[in-house]
Amino acid sequence: MGLIPESVIDEVLTRADIESVVGRYVLLKRQGGNMWGLCPFHSEKTASFSVNPSKGIYKCFGCGKGGNAISFIMEIEHLNYPEAIRHLGGLYGVEIPETGYSGDSIQKEEKNRVKDILKEAAKFYYKSFNDPDIGRPAREYAVKRCLTKQTLDNFGIGYSPMARSALYDLLKSKGYKDEELLKSGIFAVSPKTNKPYDLFRGRLMFPIFDSFGTIIAFGGRALGDEKPKYINSPDSLVYNKQNHLYAMNFARKEQSKQLIVVEGYMDAIAMHAAGFKNTVAALGTSFTDSQLKLCARYAEEVVFFFDADNAGQKAALRAIKMMMEYLKKLTGINIRIRIAKVPDGKDPDEYIKQNGAEKFKDVVRNALYVEDYLLERAKNDNTDPETGSLDRGKYQEDICQYGSWMNDEIKMSRMAGEAAPLLGATQQAVMSQMQKYSSIEDKRQAQANSRSLERERKEDIERRNIEVFDEPSDPMVPEEVSAPASDFKKVNDSATNEEIALFAYAISLGSALADKKLINKTDIIRPDDFSGDTLRELVKIFLNIYDGRNETLYARMSDYFSRLTINGMPAEDVMLRAVESADKCPDVKVKSDMYLAFLFKVRESIINREEERLLNLLASADEQEKSKINSMLSRLSDYKLNLRKRIGEL
Ligand SMILES: [Zn+2]
Repeated sequence: MGLIPESVIDEVLTRADIESVVGRYVLLKRQGGNMWGLCPFHSEKTASFSVNPSKGIYKCFGCGKGGNAISFIMEIEHLNYPEAIRHLGGLYGVEIPETGYSGDSIQKEEKNRVKDILKEAAKFYYKSFNDPDIGRPAREYAVKRCLTKQTLDNFGIGYSPMARSALYDLLKSKGYKDEELLKSGIFAVSPKTNKPYDLFRGRLMFPIFDSFGTIIAFGGRALGDEKPKYINSPDSLVYNKQNHLYAMNFARKEQSKQLIVVEGYMDAIAMHAAGFKNTVAALGTSFTDSQLKLCARYAEEVVFFFDADNAGQKAALRAIKMMMEYLKKLTGINIRIRIAKVPDGKDPDEYIKQNGAEKFKDVVRNALYVEDYLLERAKNDNTDPETGSLDRGKYQEDICQYGSWMNDEIKMSRMAGEAAPLLGATQQAVMSQMQKYSSIEDKRQAQANSRSLERERKEDIERRNIEVFDEPSDPMVPEEVSAPASDFKKVNDSATNEEIALFAYAISLGSALADKKLINKTDIIRPDDFSGDTLRELVKIFLNIYDGRNETLYARMSDYFSRLTINGMPAEDVMLRAVESADKCPDVKVKSDMYLAFLFKVRESIINREEERLLNLLASADEQEKSKINSMLSRLSDYKLNLRKRIGEL
């Protein structure tokens, strides 16, 4: 796990205000002190997802997810703790230093090795392509496909020779180990000899880049009719095909508000060659929500080209359904979806070659908005091509289905209006049927979600309880904090109401806790004021990160709350309620008095417990011990009197 200085985490949370972080994904409306929106983590129709800007936290009252800006990013972008901090650092201009050598840096090291291997491989393929003998078949193929030298170079296209282990032998000679090579995803192991060999042989090679131009995988196309036509390297340490789009590294530089999405990388390359440099391609999967999110980062509108064949059209419906569902949840992402159709069922590539780029611009311009596309689909799919008659039952089924996918009522109502005359019904009737479908679908999804959320949440709480207690929290080294490691240990999470209130007042006091006019140094909470492990640990963490001014104090603590329970309940719920009630104090003097009152009560009960213990000992003690115990008891009693007096003065 990466060690990120505590001051940097503070800086990230200061700049990455929760409102704007969440606002990138969820449309928020202000209501009182909080903001509300539809939860992105479960399916819902009324907003139960709240953001508390003053505390820097979010909380869903439907599914229970909650935390600060960092945990929000972890959850929604599927990142780990240091990755989420880096992600936010990147967005909000906070530089995250690399320090220490820990799990995360080891993994980073491994990732870098894999990236080096892929870079070496790309060089090797490129060289092979240009080798007078070895590369001839590939060059001939490239000529046939009208790939110019410029295009080939631009996309780093190469050739993998037929030899069984040409690349493997080369990289071994450069000192890479088998285990590193296997992690790169471009080698396979022979079950017979148990030796690695090159996965790609005799293929035209396309390096796959991430959005920033680093090679993370390869695709290989057969030169002839041999099967399979395409081989892609599998997901690896550095590559998850669902999260990337081919040619995004070039397309994003165009800074066009529009992205064109085609099905394969050959299509994308042809489009770039024809001047449509805002084109990307999905990587051998159906389009995913992460890919849509990636598009939304760079563009306002996505124009899709799906293959005209049956499979392509089925893929279109699947992708549209997924995207609309996704947009319903992530109400903060605004992206228009359009579906383009190349006349006569051609590939974009073919069409451009026959009709030129200018004509193709019209094709892009005439792309249908998603609702119009679906209207057309429902009609065409259910019209008999010979008689031209419409199967009304099936049409109704399809149109209500499609209408239910819409993420706003205007689109839905427009669809209903168009469909109504064909169904001989009123717009209103069609619309209400669409809404019925939509709520059935929502319910189905919500059930599926809540089952998996419940499971996740249980695992999460168990895991996090364990993690926090394994953390190095030596107060002598407060500059650095590490993300949780793991070790199984049973934890006592009990706490009295007074202890919870005391801790809550300390947090609520924030900077005032360090104000010597209000609070003596000896009256600042200590871990051993608390009876249970959880609060002790949290107080230790609190004292570590407390620097007497922190505006992000609550958000920082919430990172730890979300991993723990107090009296068996999620610590975030318990602490939020307690801190909110402390926040209600009209002024800081009242608040600090309340704090002291709880402190004295808590300390008094510690003394009571200690007295009880000593009295028990007294019964069986010898004379010498007795006098020692008695003097301890009298000291405790003085201390208690003093506390009582101070309580009286409050
Ligand atoms: Zn929720």
